[in-house]
Amino acid sequence: MKNIENLNVAIIGGGYAGMAAAVALAERGIPVTVFESARQLGGRARGVPFSTAHNHGDKPPPFQLSPAGGKSNRPLQGRNLILDNGQHLLLGCYHQTLRLIEQVGGNIEADFLRLPLQLDLHGHFALRAPRLPAPFHLLFALLGADGLSWAERFSAARFMLAMRKNNFNIINDISVSALLSIHKQSAALVQKLWEPLCIAALNTPVQIASAQVLLNVLRDALNQTRCDSDMLIPRIDFTELLPARAARYVKKCGGHVLTSCGVERLLPHYIGMEVVTKRGSLFFSHVICATAPVTTARLLRPFDELAPVIAQIDALQHQPIYTVYLQYPSHITLPHAMLGLHQRFSQWLFDKGQIAGQHGLIAAVISAEGLHQALTQDELAQKVIAELREEFGFVDTPLWFKVIAEKRATFACTPDLSRPDQQTSLPCLLLAGDYTAGDYPATLEGAVQSGLYCADLLSAASSPSGH
Ligand SMILES: Cc1cc2nc3c(=O)[nH]c(=O)nc-3n(C[C@H](O)[C@H](O)[C@H](O)COP(=O)(O)OP(=O)(O)OC[C@H]3O[C@@H](n4cnc5c(N)ncnc54)[C@H](O)[C@@H]3O)c2cc1C
Repeated sequence: MKNIENLNVAIIGGGYAGMAAAVALAERGIPVTVFESARQLGGRARGVPFSTAHNHGDKPPPFQLSPAGGKSNRPLQGRNLILDNGQHLLLGCYHQTLRLIEQVGGNIEADFLRLPLQLDLHGHFALRAPRLPAPFHLLFALLGADGLSWAERFSAARFMLAMRKNNFNIINDISVSALLSIHKQSAALVQKLWEPLCIAALNTPVQIASAQVLLNVLRDALNQTRCDSDMLIPRIDFTELLPARAARYVKKCGGHVLTSCGVERLLPHYIGMEVVTKRGSLFFSHVICATAPVTTARLLRPFDELAPVIAQIDALQHQPIYTVYLQYPSHITLPHAMLGLHQRFSQWLFDKGQIAGQHGLIAAVISAEGLHQALTQDELAQKVIAELREEFGFVDTPLWFKVIAEKRATFACTPDLSRPDQQTSLPCLLLAGDYTAGDYPATLEGAVQSGLYCADLLSAASSPSGH
């Protein structure tokens, strides 16, 4: 194995996994070059520059967006905004991501709105954790939940205690709905509590979602300290939150971050790997491929020895996430910064005014597969607008809307899923990304953990003792 002085690492993909690896290597003095095909860093968690003058791609607005609020709406016309490509949130138990954000200069309390664990399905269900140590905060929250009978509250608490007793492990992985049925969780409990939680955490419907992976998240979020279950909603866009800061950090350490520089091919080379881009080729001792699964499979396909890992990647199924951004007049607010709706297209609503001072901007999130996929983007936006009118009595029409549909937002997190290891059969090639082997579903934390692990593998293998 090479000495640390001989390492020179290419990282393909400047998403959360790639940038985590880049920071961890750069801080150890290992030369790194990040290749990112897009103009901005962040991948699936990125800020998207958006002009309200061109609110629907190149098309004119789909319906007349009359500025119902009069003069107060005028400044919004023609304004440039950064919208995330989808509203994300972090949990307090995403320790590696939060630590990394601080390492590259972020400040968690300033960068996020921190909400103690709460689930509110606007008039149908409400659960709020009291200020008690974990896991009592959750048990009291379940016992005090509105919208459930006493029998259902006890049943939910019993389920959590049973999972805790087994250290959140099940012997054979099954679907979430099968596990809930074994533990006699009623239809109302499933619809109001477990299904929204499962879809939010795994982006996979309960009928096909892995019970073990959901339990991993519940174990880390609900069972350790109370802050682990806090919900952290970013006040700044997702490119700035970590990847842009990470890029500045890497450059300060002497590394390179190249945007608009997609990797077209990887070729074996006697010193390691040749990385081919439109701008030319560069040679590296190691490559960390931190692209999403489909691109990774494409880059790996020419290597016959990687056939098993390519087969694993090809077998992954994907699930979508749609985010509908609606700009209402600035006086419009929701009852809470984050709110769920019961049995509606809009699953979760985020009031960007309360979160980030973007007054009147509401993000409606629709996770996982469903009927909404059969609608056009305009039809979906109209459904969401109608739901907001019915639920909150909004009489104003939005000034503009934008639907961002990520068709392959995450892998479908199904029982006993075989996920590729970070190490491959080629010693000079590692894989990072939310889909690689790990405890977590497709999340920022899973992505960051995989990137840090790749950096650990490379530095351990190159240290004199070999570990
Ligand atoms: C709408 C939406 C909402 C989500 N909500 C949440 C949430 O609330 N909480 C949460 O934890 N997770 C959430 N996720 C999941 C989370 O965003 C992902 O798990 C995470 O961003 C994946 O990071 P990654 O680095 O593994 O991959 P990616 O973000 O996909 O990064 C891969 C990078 O590789 C680049 N690339 C591709 N091809 C090439 C090439 N040939 N050469 C160079 N670069 C290339 C891409 O441009 C991209 O920047 C959400 C995802 C979506 C889409």
